[in-house]
Amino acid sequence: MHTPTDASERDEVLVCSGCGTTPQADAQAAARLTWSRGTDAGRTTWTCERCSRENLRSIESKLDSVWW
Ligand SMILES: [Zn+2]
Repeated sequence: MHTPTDASERDEVLVCSGCGTTPQADAQAAARLTWSRGTDAGRTTWTCERCSRENLRSIESKLDSVWW
C-alpha cells in the first residue's frame, strides 16, 4: 500500500493517550523507544512510560478482580 504520509508520521509529535503529555523535542527519539506503541481503530497511539506502568497495574488489578 502506498503511504505518502510516512514522512509526516515519522515527524508527528508523540502525545500520550493516557495523560496527554508530550516529550520534549530532544526526547522525542528516545520516547519512540521507551513509550508503548499501540493501535486504536487503525490509528497509532502512544502511551508514556508512566501511564504504561499504571495501565499494567490496572490490567493486573482487573485480572485480579476477574480471577478472585
Ligand atoms: Zn502518560
